[in-house]
Amino acid sequence: MQHPQYILVSLSNPIWTYGPWKLFQLVLPPGVVIFWRITKIFITHLHGDHFFGLPGLLCTISLQSGSTVTKQPIEIYGPAGLRDFIWRTMELSHTELVFPYVVHELVPTADQCPTEELKDFVHVNRADSPPKDGQGRTILLDSEENSYLLVDDEQFVVKAFRLFHRIPSFGFSVMEKKRPGKLNAQKLKDLGVPPGPAYGKLKNGISVVLENGVTISPQDVLKKPIVGRKICILGDCSGVVGDGGVKLCFEADLLIHEATLDDAQMDKAKEHGHSTPQMAAAFAKLCQAKRLVLTHFSQRYKPVALAREGETDGIVELKKQAESVLDLQEVTLAEDFMVIGIPIKK
Ligand SMILES: [Zn+2]
Ligand SMILES: [Zn+2]
Repeated sequence: MQHPQYILVSLSNPIWTYGPWKLFQLVLPPGVVIFWRITKIFITHLHGDHFFGLPGLLCTISLQSGSTVTKQPIEIYGPAGLRDFIWRTMELSHTELVFPYVVHELVPTADQCPTEELKDFVHVNRADSPPKDGQGRTILLDSEENSYLLVDDEQFVVKAFRLFHRIPSFGFSVMEKKRPGKLNAQKLKDLGVPPGPAYGKLKNGISVVLENGVTISPQDVLKKPIVGRKICILGDCSGVVGDGGVKLCFEADLLIHEATLDDAQMDKAKEHGHSTPQMAAAFAKLCQAKRLVLTHFSQRYKPVALAREGETDGIVELKKQAESVLDLQEVTLAEDFMVIGIPIKK
């Protein structure tokens, strides 16, 4: 059986270097992006370089859907204020999407940004907006878990955690659920389960009754469940707020963290609510992440392709700085259209 592939991409172009992260199912060969298959979009924070691309993306999805009117809404998750932004943009541009959308708003806490930057968008009242348009949930922090529960379906759990930035920012942890373990052939034989449909039922977690009246439960014949993969993406930040981030990113297969400036400019980076490679790597180390990807580089760093040999102000320096913290474990520098495969666990 071929497993569907799930892809997380950053909507980026030369102007908006780091856009909303989207989770969608790709059913065609890798590299072919089918926008209309996007079902969920996650916005880390409301700085323009991270969400101004969203109305355009929604329009593109709508156009690519042709005349197919879908009832399944696209679910958008992001900080409070986002619903109003999308609704107004659609209204002002007289845009009619061929699908419904809902916006689930995360309510930040006051300690996610400097006091003078804090604005309360939760009660922006949309007296002039139709109540049904884009209404989703208002999601509050679960103070015990120190996280926000966004999605919990058959395949995934997605949670958000708090970050500190110039304005409230969030990180997302996308966790694949455990899959049932393989059938233990020897046990099936010992218990006298005949090959055939009974195997399929047991594999799918359904008990079967044998001809002799004995009931076989899936746990009698299945090996240990297979753990799912975990991808964590942090929005702009100079640190995490609370322990939600470390808990949710623990042993992530892939951790995507910003590194706007190099280590020599750490004070400046922090002042602007950003991180350096050393800061990103220290967080990855704390979480015991298996692979770190750096992104959101300042334009002052030349891309690898443009750097001349021996130049030290290139982007490669950022990679080295992060690797020095991670005992030379390889760190990846994100690039547009980069695809990173994370094999399914067996
Ligand atoms: Zn930002
Ligand atoms: Zn940014």
